[in-house]
Amino acid sequence: MAAKYVYFFGDGKADGKAEMKNLLGGKGANLAEMTSIGLPVPPGFTISTEVCTEFYKNERNYPAGLAKEVAANLTKVEKLMGKKFGDPKNPLLVSVRSGARASMPGMMDTILNLGLNDVTVHGIISQSKDERFAYDAYRRFVQMYSDVVMGMDKGILEHLLEQKKEAKGVHLDTELSAADWKELVGKFKEKIKKHLGQNFPEDPQEQLWGAIGAVFGSWMNQRAITYRKLNSIPADWGTAVNVQAMVFGNMGDDCATGVAFTRDPSTGKNYFYGEYLVNAQGEDVVAGIRTPQPINRANGNDSKLPSMEEVMPECYTQLAKIRGILENHYRDMQDIEFTIEKGKLFMLQTRNGKRTAKAAIKIAVDMVGEGLIDEKTAVQRVVPAQLDQLLHPSLDPKAKKKLIAKGLPASPGAACGQVVFTADEAEAAAKIGLKVILVRVETSPEDIHGMHAAQGILTARGGMTSHAAVVARGMGKCCVAGCGEIKVNYGAESFAAKGDVVVKKGDVITLDGSTGEVMLGEVPTVPPELTGDFGTLMEWVDKFRKLKVRTNADTPHDAKVAREFGAEGIGLCRTEHMFFEADRIAAVREMILAEDLDGRKRALAKILPMQKGDFIGIFREMKGLPVTIRLLDPPLHEFLPHEDKDIDALAKTMGVSVQALKNKVEFLHEFNPMLGHRGCRLGITFPEIYDLQVQAIMEAACELNKNEGFAIVPEIMIPLVAVVEELKRLRESAVRVCEEVMGRYGVKIDYLIGTMIELPRAALTADEIAKEAEFFSFGTNDLTQTTFGLSRDDAGKFLPFYVESNLLPEDPFVTLDQGGVGQLVRIGCEKGRATRKNLKVGICGEHGGDPESVIFCHKTGLDYVSCSPFRVPIARLAAAHAAIGETTDLTK
Ligand code: PEP
Ligand code: MG
Repeated sequence: MAAKYVYFFGDGKADGKAEMKNLLGGKGANLAEMTSIGLPVPPGFTISTEVCTEFYKNERNYPAGLAKEVAANLTKVEKLMGKKFGDPKNPLLVSVRSGARASMPGMMDTILNLGLNDVTVHGIISQSKDERFAYDAYRRFVQMYSDVVMGMDKGILEHLLEQKKEAKGVHLDTELSAADWKELVGKFKEKIKKHLGQNFPEDPQEQLWGAIGAVFGSWMNQRAITYRKLNSIPADWGTAVNVQAMVFGNMGDDCATGVAFTRDPSTGKNYFYGEYLVNAQGEDVVAGIRTPQPINRANGNDSKLPSMEEVMPECYTQLAKIRGILENHYRDMQDIEFTIEKGKLFMLQTRNGKRTAKAAIKIAVDMVGEGLIDEKTAVQRVVPAQLDQLLHPSLDPKAKKKLIAKGLPASPGAACGQVVFTADEAEAAAKIGLKVILVRVETSPEDIHGMHAAQGILTARGGMTSHAAVVARGMGKCCVAGCGEIKVNYGAESFAAKGDVVVKKGDVITLDGSTGEVMLGEVPTVPPELTGDFGTLMEWVDKFRKLKVRTNADTPHDAKVAREFGAEGIGLCRTEHMFFEADRIAAVREMILAEDLDGRKRALAKILPMQKGDFIGIFREMKGLPVTIRLLDPPLHEFLPHEDKDIDALAKTMGVSVQALKNKVEFLHEFNPMLGHRGCRLGITFPEIYDLQVQAIMEAACELNKNEGFAIVPEIMIPLVAVVEELKRLRESAVRVCEEVMGRYGVKIDYLIGTMIELPRAALTADEIAKEAEFFSFGTNDLTQTTFGLSRDDAGKFLPFYVESNLLPEDPFVTLDQGGVGQLVRIGCEKGRATRKNLKVGICGEHGGDPESVIFCHKTGLDYVSCSPFRVPIARLAAAHAAIGETTDLTK
């Protein structure tokens, strides 16, 4: 059988269905599905994503047979509509839209009114009896087509339009007559010819194929490539093309067009939420040029503009019914587009709506309550990385605020930063570590990189479904949109706000994306709310996951926060971090710089009570949960004194001359401190340091056990082991100290001694190492560094370039490199367990909180991941997804 490239939909029947997203793109699959379930969808057809793939494989040539299939399907549309494409009397007009598997704002979106030319326009006039409408449609088509298909600078035609309005002394497009539009169509075409050296195509077939080519071509434009990269969308997915009969929302006051969400995409509240415009076409609603009207008064919407429910009650009732049908059918919140032509409602799109993390959780939990989905589906509906939005502080309601404007609460959260006015500036500022707020009149797909780099986005124009609002929500970025109270002046790099306030580039402002408030300066924040729907969802999460989630915490406070986030133990307590505070660092420096054993012992005696106090605090906080304490692993350079005043003070304390101390600092200087005298190498050369730490751990455990009845199983972890002999010796020492302390207190504590696997050699000889280790923890920060031969401290100079230029798919310090580093983890795990069957294995590098890496850890059979406190819920959810993924295909 010949390959099928084109899929028809219309009149209640469709070749495709919702499950065929990979082949038909999201838009095409859902148009087919809506048609099949009896919703009013204008007929049309979808050219599959396979054609896109073939197109690029064959040097931008279409597969044989495509033209024939397109022609046959066009005929079907003509029959259903009772019109003919290119017919002078009763012409069919079509829209051409892109539609990839995932929605992609970076691509060519839509061409409307295709099929119009100097002849067919008369057919439209006689059919619609409205010359003005016909020429308005024609000029829109010429503008859109010349821009996206022919590459004409759209500003040039817009300028002609402005000139015309000026000449006529009018302000609005609506004030131009049929004759004006007719004249402009002619002028537009002349300009196009002059600028591009080619005629605007009159032949509808040529127009159609030009548009199809432009959709496929846009798959590889820079914006689409950037968007794919930011959203991890593979290039070989390709896009589909949807060709559909036009219906018009701009044929008069009984026409309209709108967009809606079946629930509030910002809060998740269960009410019908949307915007529409009377007598408008397609993108007018999202373009932010006219202020859209609400579809209803739900949720206390007190807009002064009349709602659709009031103006077009019958269509509204039908739409509200469709809302219910769609939610019941898709069992998820839908984002829909509709058009009303002469009082008749048509559905142009439905898709699962993008939503904030807050809304995702509320919708998932509510839908379980409503019996629409089960708990497992609810867990799958929340994207782990998205949780980040909820785990960070929001603005302190009690804080003093200097309110300078209020816009629409388009995407919640709080954001604070310096004002910039262009996407490029935002990106440049973020690169040097500045926090910025991108302020625009409105945003467009060209601004995506800047929106990504900014903390938050503020726009002067556009509704809740404007580009800025939709994209920010998808990114989980705070956004205040449609803030008409600000007047942006790009030239002066400033904006004026209420009360004569002028905010200049570089000034700090704060946005509250949940209220729409814009404030001058930085406003304090409060911790996140972890109960309610969030708590319910996380309970379900814990039912499904198998991987345990611990935290990396060095203080009782961090331990407490992590427990509140659901940590089941501490997977890494970095003891050197306990010494960063000013009064403590002096003692550590004294220890590092001591000339001899006596000097070191004197310094260690100062450290012992501090360490013991910390351990007691942490053990208490963790209430008997496992706590892994890593013995000292200080990259020496982080601790050495460099400033004269510190050296002077230390020399005094140690009773040595300043010069002698300087000489010692000089002597300890390392060229590659990350590969230097750190980790267990320090324990090997100065055993008294590790002995003291083990003593502090065991004394803390014994005291709590004896005095407060705590059952603590400390896990003592030895870092940066390369050869088993290092571990063997250090283990012997540690055991000796443990036994001595327990004897002294007269208590028996179960304790474990294990190691970090941070060096390729350790992973490759894990069978040997496991003889001396009761647990392994993969230190994937160092393991990444040593596997790639990349310095953790210096990679920032070139690694971003590697990622930007696709040399590496991701920063390997953020997402575990499964092909290389991951292989070592797998080998280490297998070899270790071959020696010691019940070896406990975890991971404590930064990857422990990265969703993709967590899924890898689950698949590799690790017992737990350990990550920073704020990422614990993300890791829990990712672990649940990994476990569910074993039985359910997440993409379905
Ligand atoms: C690691 O190397 O992955 C690790 C957790 O240790 P650190 O980051 O302290 O070197
Ligand atoms: Mg390490």
